[in-house]
Amino acid sequence: MRNATYTGRHRPAAQTPRGRRYVVPVALLSATVAGGLVIREARAGELGPAAAGAMSNASTSVDAVGLPADPDAVSAATAARAGGGTSRDTSREALAGVDTAGSTSGPSSVEAATARARADEKARAAAKAEKQKAAKAQAARDNAVKAAHRWVSPLASYTLTSGYGFRWGKLHPAQDLATPVGSRVHSLSSGTVIFAGWDSTGFGNLVRIQYWDGTVSFMAHNSRLVVSVGQTVAPGQLVSYSGNTGHSTGPHVHLEIHPSGGEAVPPMPWLANHGIRL
Ligand SMILES: [Zn+2]
Repeated sequence: MRNATYTGRHRPAAQTPRGRRYVVPVALLSATVAGGLVIREARAGELGPAAAGAMSNASTSVDAVGLPADPDAVSAATAARAGGGTSRDTSREALAGVDTAGSTSGPSSVEAATARARADEKARAAAKAEKQKAAKAQAARDNAVKAAHRWVSPLASYTLTSGYGFRWGKLHPAQDLATPVGSRVHSLSSGTVIFAGWDSTGFGNLVRIQYWDGTVSFMAHNSRLVVSVGQTVAPGQLVSYSGNTGHSTGPHVHLEIHPSGGEAVPPMPWLANHGIRL
């Protein structure tokens, strides 16, 4: 009698003699057991000698049962045993992978690494911003110093008259700049007013300024002074209005230059060295 349950399998039920109807499931069981043993043997390699021995005994006992073996199942089991090395390696790698994941690349460590990376990036950005801010501040200070240290002409318009040299047997230690009375006279650079008032020796209304580099200028014969002693001045700041006071033969500004507050030097080359070409 045909059993539809086995139709379509590699061992057609139609060709199976009635007396061997139960061999097929046993053979399949054998193949399943054999396959299971391959896995068990693979795991046995990971175990201690006693456990491995128990596994081996189990295998032997199954073999000793002497159940009829299905040839295909046996060859499949043999192939599985032959390829056991791969299975064992894969098994070890899988186990190793679990161990590794558990110790270094779990969700918590990934989050920690991401947090550290974000913190580092934030710190770098902050440092960069701070550096840029400092550079900008330094540039502003540099520009401020550069502006404070620039040198400018004392007058917008003038005519060069008497220069530095001897006149009638006497040194004229200045450059005279002829200009109408009331012309605006400017500080040559940034500095401090060290004298502002009447000078009875011939300068008339005199302004003396000591600049940031120690140089002192005299500007004489003014009609009016607009600064006082101790006042700080910036380059080009109005300090007085020109005139014809003191020993003067005509409206002009008498300009003297005293480097480091010492002896007067010829103004024209000194001014030229400071970017002022009169
Ligand atoms: Zn003069």
